[in-house]
Amino acid sequence: MSSEKSLKPYREKRDFHQTPEPFGQGESPGKPVYVIQKHDASHLHYDLRLEIESVLKSWAVPKGPSLDPKVRRLALLVEDHPISYAGFEGTIPEGQYGGGTVMVWDKGTYRNLQAEKPAAPRSMEQSFGDGKIEVYLDGDKLKGAFALVKTKQSEKSWLFFKMKDEFAQPGSDITVSEPDSAITGRTIDEIAAGKE
Ligand code: MN
Repeated sequence: MSSEKSLKPYREKRDFHQTPEPFGQGESPGKPVYVIQKHDASHLHYDLRLEIESVLKSWAVPKGPSLDPKVRRLALLVEDHPISYAGFEGTIPEGQYGGGTVMVWDKGTYRNLQAEKPAAPRSMEQSFGDGKIEVYLDGDKLKGAFALVKTKQSEKSWLFFKMKDEFAQPGSDITVSEPDSAITGRTIDEIAAGKE
């Protein structure tokens, strides 16, 4: 699917005269982009986004990521976002779609681990279609291997979890130990208040 076509639902949900969110597609810096945004909307949640086929495939993760491989977090597939969204931090006005404050909680690039399997290499596009993604994240906060696996419960329901490696931290909660913005260091309240 062309990225213009896959961004149609994103654009139809938003009034770009009202929201400061980006309209344009944006360009990948080269290595595929990864971002997790903390979103204080009607319920605080996290949005995980991975660049696949020139857009950001996106999942809402109610409880956020965990570095404990035993903790599997529900991740609900939502509409594709433009690459330019990876840098968006600010406030979406009340009454607009997703109204509330958005923080760039973590940002970086990733490697597709499924492409490195000699027996049956899979592209990100194929892995997404298979419902089984394995990536090596190189973010400011999250590092190492993570998996996203589609469940049988519904088309949109996936699980996001840390795979075992040297970056795993059993028993930890990184959403509590590292709550602030990866790009500005601001708290969610400081972003909401428009503090520079
Ligand atoms: Mn959200």
